[in-house]
Amino acid sequence: MAEIRSGELTSRENIKLMMEGKLNPDIVNSLRRMAIKEEDRFWKYVDILQEKTGFKERILLRLSDHLYIVAKGDERIVKCDCGYEFGDYRINWKLGSLVRARKTTEEMKEAYTFLPKEMPHPEEGLVEIREFYCPGCLAQLAVELVPPGYPVVFEMFPDLDTFYRDWMGQPLPDENPEWFQDKTLEEISHWDIE
Ligand SMILES: [Zn+2]
Repeated sequence: MAEIRSGELTSRENIKLMMEGKLNPDIVNSLRRMAIKEEDRFWKYVDILQEKTGFKERILLRLSDHLYIVAKGDERIVKCDCGYEFGDYRINWKLGSLVRARKTTEEMKEAYTFLPKEMPHPEEGLVEIREFYCPGCLAQLAVELVPPGYPVVFEMFPDLDTFYRDWMGQPLPDENPEWFQDKTLEEISHWDIE
């Protein structure tokens, strides 16, 4: 096999194929093993996401298969690829989703069809399964298995300013320590008042 220069490895085309799971595994391995990763890899990645979603707002980070943090006006919001907006990214987006909680053994067994009958299943009263869906497109966005009454898990709350400033060397234009403040409890406290 001809030697491939690293610049060719991280071509926009290769990154796009990798994101779609279509890149030759040998090339994926070479990419993973590169001692020094090209600095523009992230920017190419975001550029491809921007094209894929068609969002007019700047994508700051991808959170999951469907969810993105985007800069909208003077806000940083969570947005689904269907266009549905969850609002301020500092508030756990799950609070604005559709939730289905499986609490009984029967309900939980429905989600464990892949397990043989004799295998132990989650036990009613000890755990519950919470499924979170997008109100816009009904895509399943997350699942958590937690003890009943456990707070809704905030899976990913990135420090965007530090990431862009210290890691990418390109600070965001609206840097502010306020961005890295979890506002979830504040949001819930308003619910109590109403
Ligand atoms: Zn959606």
